[in-house]
Amino acid sequence: RAKRLRGHSYAIFDDRQDHTSHHLIDLEPELWKALQQQEFTLFYQPRVCLRSGEICGAEALIRWQHPERGLITPDTFIPIAERSGLIVPIGYWVIERAGRDLKRLTAAGLQGHLGVNLSFRQFQDGYLANTIERLIQQQDINTSMLEFELTETALFSDEHHVRQCMETLGALGVEFSLDDFGTGYSSFSMLQKLPISTLKIDKSFVAGIGQNSDDEEIVRTIISLAKNLQKKVIAEGVETPQQLAFLQHLNCPLAQGYAFSPPVDLDTFLELLNQPNLLAQCL
Ligand code: C2E
Ligand code: MG
Ligand code: MG
Ligand code: MG
Repeated sequence: RAKRLRGHSYAIFDDRQDHTSHHLIDLEPELWKALQQQEFTLFYQPRVCLRSGEICGAEALIRWQHPERGLITPDTFIPIAERSGLIVPIGYWVIERAGRDLKRLTAAGLQGHLGVNLSFRQFQDGYLANTIERLIQQQDINTSMLEFELTETALFSDEHHVRQCMETLGALGVEFSLDDFGTGYSSFSMLQKLPISTLKIDKSFVAGIGQNSDDEEIVRTIISLAKNLQKKVIAEGVETPQQLAFLQHLNCPLAQGYAFSPPVDLDTFLELLNQPNLLAQCL
């Protein structure tokens, strides 16, 4: 069966419509093996200060370095890892690796926060906060630079448990951001009640800048909402000089996107840190 899977290559990965498909179930042992054989790696995308062009933070994004298929992006395997529960051990591996890499990143001068994605499914582990706390201690992770990126789905899965986790980790100095903001179901009261310090404007709205006045209005509204609630804000998916100019005009402080850099491996990111101004290259 494993052989057949290899033969079928990407067709199997893309079969996401049919949840009962035996192909999806067959991928679980491959993912488990990938974890044991250290086939995962983290890429880093810079967060860029829109005033100075300096790198101020980064986001860690998982990649699967498959021995035959090459580099596989998370959209093809994270949903399967979530469905099977494997996202829990994979998620701990991510935090461990991010903690290790953070040492090299800060030694090379990284400022700001390192965003690490947390899936809603990871909260189904009752020991999430305790395990993360242990990893932080074991690895001596600088919590003042650690930020977990949650989606609105995570906040709704089990509000009480999620809030407890956030408070436990928040007490250690960890921050939280809301990823893909605007695409889910967060309410204003949730933004007030939960310790969320940053809103990340979903890239679908940024993509509409210059194309769709509703998207522009949504971007404008999220930036002013963040300001009024005294939260930080980051625009995701900035690709064009026009999108950049629009965001600068609204005084959006931080952005990520291909305009500055795609996610890159650690060594490439360390080189990026030597570049004084990432705005220069996209104008
Ligand atoms: P996300 O957290 O919203 O990450 C942003 C995604 O946008 C990344 O895709 C990034 O490569 C992509 N991106 C960055 N700049 C641009 C741009 O200018 N244009 C466009 N079109 N895309 C851009 P990626 O790396 O494929 O990750 C996809 C999703 O997989 C992430 O979305 C996140 O939800 C999930 N993910 C990634 N790494 C992890 C992880 O370690 N743990 C968990 N639980 N989920 C992860
Ligand atoms: Mg994210
Ligand atoms: Mg996002
Ligand atoms: Mg996302």
